[in-house]
Amino acid sequence: MNLVIFGPPGAGKGTQSKFISNRFNLHQLSTGELLRIEIKNKTILGSKISSIMNSGDLVSDDIVTTLIEKYISQNTYKNRLIFDGYPRNLNQAINLDKLLKKYDQKIDLVLNLSVKLDTIKKRILERRFQEKRADDNEVVAIKRFKNYESSTKPVLDYYNKSNLLKDVNGEASITEINVEISGIIESIKG
Ligand code: ADP
Repeated sequence: MNLVIFGPPGAGKGTQSKFISNRFNLHQLSTGELLRIEIKNKTILGSKISSIMNSGDLVSDDIVTTLIEKYISQNTYKNRLIFDGYPRNLNQAINLDKLLKKYDQKIDLVLNLSVKLDTIKKRILERRFQEKRADDNEVVAIKRFKNYESSTKPVLDYYNKSNLLKDVNGEASITEINVEISGIIESIKG
């Protein structure tokens, strides 16, 4: 199965994706992580995107779509992908459907982790000390949240129409969320 894990910055998408990928033998595809690797490796792409990412804005759809096609096109990952941080706007959601279709696949489930802005701020500030990400400071975190509200959240309606969406309370503990998500995936796998 292919699934999308959806939610605002700091919702716990990465944490839950890692858990699900281990438990169900899926592959976590985090566009944020792929982009950070480009910056760390000082690639040409990395130099183009670092200021955009550090300011909390989205990088261009073309860049992220090219990155994810590299994975969708590989047989090893066929029907085993967790999209973490993609799609982030309606155009990306449409691109994702097209790409999956091109490789004879589809999305089976969209998990929506919902979390309040106060919790997000707290988590991002805590994470800053662990991961030392350049975009984990309060000003940029608020900008990322605003971008989520304006560009990313509308994608939920898109998935709601196709009945793929399951809401998960992202305020619960990591373990509680693990249990809830596992139950949902088990029920879909049948
Ligand atoms: P978070 O969800 O905590 O904001 P991510 O690691 O998912 O963290 O994303 C970090 C940054 O990477 C985003 O603020 C954005 O600049 C860039 N990015 C990640 N995924 C995408 C995407 N699908 N489209 C555009 N930009 C993206």
